[in-house]
Amino acid sequence: MLASYDSLFIGGEWVRPSSSARIEVTSASTEENIGSVPEAAEADVDASVAAARRAFDDPDGWSQWEPSARAAAMERLAAELEARSDEMALRVSAQNGMPISIATMLEGGFPVVVLRYLAGLLDGATFEEERPGFLGGTNIVRREPIGVVGAIVPWNYPQTLAAFKYGAALAAGCTVVMKPSPETVLDAFLLAEAIEAARIPAGVINIVPGGRELGAYLVAHRDVDKVAFTGSTAAGRRVAETCGRLLRPVTLELGGKSAAIVLEDADLDLAKIGTDLFAATLVNNGQTCYLGTRVLAPRSRYGEVVDTLAAFASSLAVGDALDPATQIGPMASQTHRDRVEGYIAKGASDGARLVVGGGRPRDLDHGWFVEPTVFAEVDNSATIAQEEIFGPVLSVIAYGDVDDAIRIANDTDYGLGGSVWTTDPERGKDVARRVRTGTIGINRYLPDPAAPFGGVKASGIGRELGPDAIGAYQQLKSIYA
Ligand code: NAD
Repeated sequence: MLASYDSLFIGGEWVRPSSSARIEVTSASTEENIGSVPEAAEADVDASVAAARRAFDDPDGWSQWEPSARAAAMERLAAELEARSDEMALRVSAQNGMPISIATMLEGGFPVVVLRYLAGLLDGATFEEERPGFLGGTNIVRREPIGVVGAIVPWNYPQTLAAFKYGAALAAGCTVVMKPSPETVLDAFLLAEAIEAARIPAGVINIVPGGRELGAYLVAHRDVDKVAFTGSTAAGRRVAETCGRLLRPVTLELGGKSAAIVLEDADLDLAKIGTDLFAATLVNNGQTCYLGTRVLAPRSRYGEVVDTLAAFASSLAVGDALDPATQIGPMASQTHRDRVEGYIAKGASDGARLVVGGGRPRDLDHGWFVEPTVFAEVDNSATIAQEEIFGPVLSVIAYGDVDDAIRIANDTDYGLGGSVWTTDPERGKDVARRVRTGTIGINRYLPDPAAPFGGVKASGIGRELGPDAIGAYQQLKSIYA
């Protein structure tokens, strides 16, 4: 048993939940029960929103603090999270199967980096400026915090994606009610402990663990002023419909099916590119929204690209997520593994050639494992090339010239990530400029806190991170003075 809690973190206190329902957490690697927490009910969401409202409306409260004071509090939270980073990585890894080496860097480390980056943006910030009026007089233009934020996060990077939201919201002066995914709740309670230890004022961040109905209730709550959502495109559409009806600002980070474009001059030496290729195509067992899972290979080097990817996929160490040597852990849940296996079966029945993988590792009889899988001779119109599989499955698609590669890269409903592989970085940048996507890398892919992150088309609306991140939690007010 990793952790178990009896109370919910609402209004800065550990309070008795309003229902006796509990969320049981299962290890993706061992299928054993590793903890449980109370499941929040609608009454707990009401109490959380009310606490966030009070904290926001308090005339001396968080929204009115000087930006430097908010930055200091965010630094304290970063320090408390840093002190818990090993435990955080352990909890995430045990729950969702993210290899511990990756969880340590990302889920343990990245929220700390993100908080410090966002706190740094407050240095010297005033959020109010005077501008001369076009018709005379002066316009005072203020960037005011939007209010109470409903933040909804998925299970794949639960802490990083939460930090993108509460970090920017806190910097803007907003207060937050956060709903973690039921698969990953033990980490959310450790975050609550860090929030308490950092003396973040009561009600500024509240946490309500629960499923999609609870999420829908939070999104539609009359006292929520903005929604920040990361999850599947299907759920994102429902969230957007509600926000559209309520005219409620919303940021949506949704699914992806990005292209990794291998140019004719690419260096395919795995000793040189293996680490970056892994990060761009398979990291977190393929359960990452931005991965380049459609690998576009020039016809002139098609066989070579397929062989390289096959060697690469077969070389990866598959095993218990908590083993430091593991590169590919299990799928986050049994249902999710069923889904991934369904796609693998569909790929084969639709006529793609299974090059490696496709099954379950023979030596692992517990845990929801899937072998790293490569399909060749995939047509871009095939289901496995168009739909998000969210597992360790790559499809290699042939192209003729660079225009053809860009056409195929853009022939998708999604537009979140992508990468270009070439020995000529300038050519790589030219190709990157022509891909319809929110983010793309040259010979690598790694989101940077200083660059806006998000998608186009069915991958979402709005951006997180970057210098503009705080703006998504503010609204402009003009005072004609
Ligand atoms: P999901 O959409 O099922 O759930 C995500 C979160 O939304 C969960 O907390 C869930 O309880 C909640 N939810 C579901 N339906 C809801 C509704 N109607 N109203 C309110 N809340 C609702 O997604 P998942 O399976 O947990 O996560 C995987 C998906 O997330 C993938 O599609 C992946 O691409 C996407 N994702 C996107 C990004 C990004 O930044 N673009 C990052 C990570 C994951």
